[in-house]
Amino acid sequence: MSTKQVKNNFEVAIIGGGIVGTAVFSELCRLGVNCVLLEASEDVSNGSTKANSGIVHSGYDPTPNSLMAKFNILGANMYEDMCKRLSVTYLKCGTLTVSNEEGRQKLNDLLNRGKQNGVKGLKIVENKELHKLEPNLNSDITLGLYAPTGALVSPYNVCVALAEEGIVNGGTVYCYFNVNKIKYQNQLYTIYAKESYAPTPFVNAKYVINCAGANAIEVNKLLGLPEPQNVSYVKGEYIILDKSLKGYVNRPIFPLPTAMGKGIVSNLTVHGNILLGPTATPCQKDDVSVSTDSIAQIVDKVCLTIKKPNFGKTIKLFAGVRAKVGNDFVIERDNTHKNYYYTLGICSPGLTSAPAIAVYIKDMLIEDGLKTKNITPKKRKPYPELATLSRQELNKLIKANPQYGRIICKCENVSEGEIIDILNSPLKPTSIDAIKRRVRPSMGRCQGSFCIPKLINLISQYLNIPKEKVTLNGIGSEIVISDIKQYGYYARKQINTVLKQVSTKK
Ligand SMILES: Cc1cc2nc3c(=O)[nH]c(=O)nc-3n(C[C@H](O)[C@H](O)[C@H](O)COP(=O)(O)OP(=O)(O)OC[C@H]3O[C@@H](n4cnc5c(N)ncnc54)[C@H](O)[C@@H]3O)c2cc1C
Repeated sequence: MSTKQVKNNFEVAIIGGGIVGTAVFSELCRLGVNCVLLEASEDVSNGSTKANSGIVHSGYDPTPNSLMAKFNILGANMYEDMCKRLSVTYLKCGTLTVSNEEGRQKLNDLLNRGKQNGVKGLKIVENKELHKLEPNLNSDITLGLYAPTGALVSPYNVCVALAEEGIVNGGTVYCYFNVNKIKYQNQLYTIYAKESYAPTPFVNAKYVINCAGANAIEVNKLLGLPEPQNVSYVKGEYIILDKSLKGYVNRPIFPLPTAMGKGIVSNLTVHGNILLGPTATPCQKDDVSVSTDSIAQIVDKVCLTIKKPNFGKTIKLFAGVRAKVGNDFVIERDNTHKNYYYTLGICSPGLTSAPAIAVYIKDMLIEDGLKTKNITPKKRKPYPELATLSRQELNKLIKANPQYGRIICKCENVSEGEIIDILNSPLKPTSIDAIKRRVRPSMGRCQGSFCIPKLINLISQYLNIPKEKVTLNGIGSEIVISDIKQYGYYARKQINTVLKQVSTKK
């Protein structure tokens, strides 16, 4: 049992630890605001922030003068510096939207829309120039809209880093805090957690910001706010291929967009995997299942753009949900409850827009009386990335600490030392998936078949919890039921032998 005192009183409470909530959290903590981030699950980045394409969109797609267009452009312009500040990867690869000759007019329309939105450097590339950029394009693809300001990030790495940055600047994160009741009295909010295992049953705050993603409408209802019209949820399914196909595509390659969205993208991740998807299927707000029909659809659609990749290299299927309210983001202050703000319908390009949305929300709070301090913000400390070190540097590190020489995940080359570092990081991961999102064990070809038992041991040892309490992704997803050597099979065998001896003596 931890003796650390639990804090209950804050100036600002943010509900939801996705990219929007963590961006707001970091923005406010860096201004010295006493802030808490409340997240329902066991870790931040567990909603649509962990299941998207990771594209920092250049901004040619949103309708001009919409909030989406505004925040997309502002956010995209902030991303590179933000990633530098957070010490996370920002892959400046540009994006391509491609078609055959028939799509020329549509590509020109996108180019003009992009110019209207203020996107810099857009140009149409053709034939040889296009195929030089992407050698695996199909031969009938002859045109592409190249957006050099498009980029790629790891969405969960950015989200975790923002949360950590908030913590090192004095903020508090409560995971397992599933908000299910909000009381508003005397201009103060008391926010209650649903589960008894929450780190505290309630917190008080003067300002509340609802960033609960697909669940934000439900959170608004806790204060009696009405459900908006035109709400829909759209699932995006993906296929991820292993790193041996690295280089098959060099940047996100979009088909021409349709009324359903930006289409199925031939994409990559900052870590070198090939990522194919997403689909766009109407769904329930928490439906992240993947269907065989959708996988077939991804395979068909991808092959219209690029030469068929080796789908035998598939390592994982996954899905994320886009929450939509009409055709634009909704970012409002409520006029019935003082100092209550909400974000609804933050679908794509929400990842790109998050830093700009955070600044916008911060400005609203300051306008409404929030006091900030002129402090020098601290930087979050990045985890050591052994893969980026020279052999000499690596040898030195292993000599100083042999834990960096003990490999836990052979697919992704992750050492025990790296895992221990993150078990001691500002936002301590408590599940296998939370560790996976930070330093990638179980992210590779074998998907954890070999390293999960070792990870269970490490988590148990460093968090001082029994192995039966270690979870894949939060309470209810425990992996082992007992240790067969300690009190399981072997122990039972011993008991049975003793019982047998006793019964034969009789
Ligand atoms: C398939 C797909 C592809 C996409 N691709 C891109 C892309 O390439 N580029 C881009 O810019 N955008 C993209 N997006 C959009 C982007 O992923 C979202 O806009 C963004 O992740 C939304 O972040 P969020 O913080 O609003 O919500 P979320 O990430 O969903 O976070 C909400 C958080 O709130 C928590 N929560 C919910 N209810 C409660 C409660 N009662 N109490 C406490 N916590 C609660 C949840 O657990 C969750 O962690 C894509 C989205 C999808 C689904």
